[in-house]
Amino acid sequence: MMRVLQTYPETISDGIGLRYSIYFAGCRHYCRGCHNPDSWRADRGMLLDETYFQQIIQEIQQNPLLDGVTLSGGDPFYDPEALLSFIKRLKNETKQNIWCYTGYVYEELVLDPITQDCLAYIDVLVDGKFEQEQKDPTLYFRGSTNQRVLLLQAGKIVKELHFPAQGVKKSR
Ligand code: SF4
Repeated sequence: MMRVLQTYPETISDGIGLRYSIYFAGCRHYCRGCHNPDSWRADRGMLLDETYFQQIIQEIQQNPLLDGVTLSGGDPFYDPEALLSFIKRLKNETKQNIWCYTGYVYEELVLDPITQDCLAYIDVLVDGKFEQEQKDPTLYFRGSTNQRVLLLQAGKIVKELHFPAQGVKKSR
């Protein structure tokens, strides 16, 4: 079962528009310069049991101003099977637009049937490890130039999204 480090019911820095962000515990990428090494341990935070899940769903459903939900961490793909059952229910029960941050690249995620299934519920995937040598604080929604903001449809890449290189700053 997944564990949640933190939720942000309204944020504008984790994707387009006003979003509900969920930060999951657990990451195996160990990027140098990681914004939050405390998130690497999978035993941190709160267990995402049914009660907590329902609380999150309710908070999302009760906010008509939201443009979407963002999954971050840690790496939401730390436990792909748990992510798949979570993201399926999240999508079905909220119908929200879903952004997901991960240290894996899209091409890795399509190799495994479980992670590939997860992609079908994700509208925008921000992929790749944070590379300190390619860090650029002017980028929107990503921390280093190797990372991509990918618009997906039914798990396939539609296009890479590019944003003007000024304004909202994201530190990962
Ligand atoms: S993928 Fe993200 S959370 Fe994991 S080590 Fe890299 S920057 Fe940190």
